[in-house]
Parts: sequence; C-alpha cells; structure tokens
Amino acid sequence: MSQSNPSMIRIFDTTLRDGEQSPGASLNHAEKLEIARQLEALGVDVIEAGFPITSQGDFDAVRAIAQELQRATVCALARCVPRDIDRAGEALKDCTSGGGGRIHVFCATSKIHREHKLKKAFEEIIRISVESVKQARQFTDNVEFSPEDGSRTELDYLVEITQAVVEAGATTVNIPDTVGYAVPAEYGHIFSYVRQKLPMLDQRDIYLSAHCHNDLGLAVANSLSAVQNGCRQVECTINGIGERAGNAALEEIVMALRTRGSAEDYFREFTTRINSKKIYPLSRMVSSLTGLQVQRNKAIVGQNAFAHEAGIHQDGMLKHANTYEIMDPRDVGVPESKLVLGKHSGRHALRDRIAELGYSLDDDMLDRVYDRFKQLADRKKDVFDEDIEAMLDEQLESARQLWELDSFEVTSGSRITARAKVALRDSTGTIRSEDGEGDGPIDACYSAIQRITGVHITLDNYTTRAVTGGKDAQGEVNVQVDHHGRKVRGRGVSTDVIEAAVKAYLSAINRIRTMEARQVAATTLNGDNDTMQPRAAQP
Ligand code: MN
Repeated sequence: MSQSNPSMIRIFDTTLRDGEQSPGASLNHAEKLEIARQLEALGVDVIEAGFPITSQGDFDAVRAIAQELQRATVCALARCVPRDIDRAGEALKDCTSGGGGRIHVFCATSKIHREHKLKKAFEEIIRISVESVKQARQFTDNVEFSPEDGSRTELDYLVEITQAVVEAGATTVNIPDTVGYAVPAEYGHIFSYVRQKLPMLDQRDIYLSAHCHNDLGLAVANSLSAVQNGCRQVECTINGIGERAGNAALEEIVMALRTRGSAEDYFREFTTRINSKKIYPLSRMVSSLTGLQVQRNKAIVGQNAFAHEAGIHQDGMLKHANTYEIMDPRDVGVPESKLVLGKHSGRHALRDRIAELGYSLDDDMLDRVYDRFKQLADRKKDVFDEDIEAMLDEQLESARQLWELDSFEVTSGSRITARAKVALRDSTGTIRSEDGEGDGPIDACYSAIQRITGVHITLDNYTTRAVTGGKDAQGEVNVQVDHHGRKVRGRGVSTDVIEAAVKAYLSAINRIRTMEARQVAATTLNGDNDTMQPRAAQP
C-alpha cells in the first residue's frame, strides 16, 4: 500500500440493528428513518437497518429506509433460513442504492455453538451457509456472510467456510467477535491467517469485515487490529451501543484512524468516508432517541471529552491547543456557542439551527416544532441547543404516542395527601381523566396514569437534571420502569418538573406497546422448528 493512496475502510453501521438490541432501547419508525438519514449524511458506507423476519416493525423500517436512501448501501439481516432470506429480499425490493441493497446472512460456526445450539456438524453448517448465500444472491449481488462466534471458531474451519461462501457468491465475509472474547493481537491474526490461506479473497476483491463487542472493553482495539491485518470493513454503532456491553463505537474507530492518519503517522495507510463534523450531533440524537445516555468520560462524544479543569492544562491550551488536546472539538462537531434563539427569532433562524444540529424536517414537522418553540420562548428567555433537541425528539416520538398528556392538576403539601387529576388523549383523540393519590405529586400523577392506561408498571429508577442552566431551565426526567420483568426507559422534558415527570412516565408506557408488538413476533419465531434463535446472540 502506498502512502499517497490510503486504503478506504468501509464503515458499516449497525446502530439500527445491533444497537437497537440494547436492553431498554427501542426506536419507532420515524426515529429509525431519521437516524438512517443522518447516518447517510455522516458518510457511512453500509447501514444495517434491521432484521426483517423478527417483526413487522423491523420489516417496515428496512423497507422505508431502503426506499429513501440514495448513497449508503442498506443492509438487512437474516438467519440461514429460507423464509428469513425471502423476507430480507422483500424488504429490500425497491432499494436503489448499493446494487439493490445487501443481504447479510449468518450461521454459527464455533464448537460451542455447533454442539450446544445448532447440534449440527460442520459439514452441515457449510452446506446450509452455501445454500443461503446462493438464495440471497437471487435478490442482490451484494451478499455478506457471518460465521457467528467467528473468533472462537477453529481457524481452519473459518478458512473453509469463507472459501465456500465466497464461491457461492458472498462478496463480504464478516468474522465477528460475537461474545467480546478476543484480544487485539489474536483477533488481528485471524484476518492475516485467513487472507494468507485464501489468495482468492484479494483476487476477487472480497471484503473481510470485523464486528466486535465490548465485553472486555476491547471492541475498538480489536477492530483496529483487524484493520491492520487486512480487514477492510468495520461494523460499529454510534456511541458504541449494542447488546450487553455494546459494539465497537463508530466515533472512536473513525477518530483513531483520522487523528493518527496523517502522512507520517501510525494509521497513514487507512482512511474513511466519514464527515467527522457530523459525529457529535448524531451521537446526541441517538442518545436522546434510544434513552441510552452517554457516560460523561466517554471518548470523543462524552460531556467531559474536551473539558479541561486543571489550571495548568488551561494555561497550556491557551498557549497552544495541541499541548493537551489531540483532537479539535470542532472536528467532531461539538458546537462552539450554545446560546441560540429567543422569542424574537424567526422560523428561518430556527430551521437553520435545526439543520446544524443534524436534523432534517419536512415543512409540517417544522411548523409543529416552530409552534412549540414559540410557546417555550414565552416561558423561557433563552432557548438553547438542548432545548431544541428536546423539542425535536418529542416530535419524532409523537409518532408512537398512543397516549398523550392533555392536562394535569396536583395538590400537595406537608400535611395533606398528594392528589392529582390527570387527563390523557388516546390515539383516537378521546380524552380520559382519572384521579390518583400518592406520596407526593408525581406519585399521585403516576397512579392516575396507571388507572387510565391500565398498564401496570413499577418504577425502578427516577432521575432529573436541568437541560440548560438558569432559573427558567427546562428539567429533564428519565425513568426506568419494570413491566413484567422487562426494563423500559422513558424521558420527558418541560420547564415544569412535574410535567416532565408525567411525560417521562407516558413515554415509557408508550414504549412498552412498541416492544409488546415486537415480542409477539419474536415468540412466533421461536416457537417453530428452526434450531437457530433469531434474537439470541447474533454476529
Ligand atoms: Mn453483534
């Protein structure tokens, strides 16, 4: 590889598939579509949009994303099961980008999976995989195969199955560290070994791909080690969300390659198509929409990532930013000034700011957000980026609002029982109200809401914080509730903390409905004769 022509590493984003499998995260249709648009704007090469066989919702999301996106390749996941592949092919039917979209089929290959999950011999696994790749090729020329639990599969088996699926028509072979077990040198060695045994991969321009989980905190290190050993596609997610400890974080991989990518530097042989300035806005959007908050000290996108407290650092920073800062916060799109708008700001100013925050709205949505903005600007002097983001998220979320807050009244005090009267509007527009009592005004509202909706949940966790500074700041409430053992999150924002708490509770109840619909589909799947479980560990 020559220095002047660095090799382009393909970024395969699976925020909408593996990321959405994070416990507690679930996205509605409008939210998935908006994230997909912003992933495309970020410059991601491949977007894994879902797993169509698992639910109608996943199918619809993949289909809508495939119909809309122009540049990014849209990918659908399928087990090595004929009707999974048919369903994936159907979801991608109208896809115009990436040669008709990509079907990604997977089949477990490691000893532990062969013996305990599949109860199939290796020859049988090869046969099923080859047939599945051939079937997928009937829908598209762009087919990816993953030997699930690849990093724990015997090397020579990996070579054998890679050769077989490539001969059957796979164009990308992903070798996942499904359970986050590998360490960097070992994982890198898998790639150099497979490439050395199979010169056909380079001859036919077949891409090897890495997919790493963060159970030991090594997902990014493992991915970079794979890249150094000839892997040309990296699978990752925004903020590193994903099953268990998550997937490799897109922003960390991209910024490692970029920060150390100059002509003389360590990663000079590699580059990506990512527009790094869009990283931070998208990180914020994914965090808000999934309810998965980013830890403060998270690399690249955490609140503290670019903050310097110590005086000695600040002094060094003022003299020369590079003394203590290896990246310029502006390169990842951290906004410089946060103060934006007030009640005299017009529609244009709001639209421009929304675009800078990384959202794209149609006129209807902009009208609704503008109305909300005017109301908020009446209650609050300065409207900050965070306030606007909260409004946008509320609008996107309204697509799943089965129940919406109409009004509430509370009475509480130190010597009286707290009472609330809450009125909710259901999806047909009917308003229903109930009274409730509790330990405090919020508890009283929650018991009224349980009466109206009939959804019984217990509150596990309740946190509140100010979205911005000042006396008129908006309060954000995050709740985690338990619904028959399943943990669900909700989030609400308002200048009134009780209203924020009510909205958070309602958003959790609305989210439960979305998840219930999906669960029904998954149960149907698990009840059949397939030995491969769709929502168990996937690549
Ligand atoms: Mn995975």
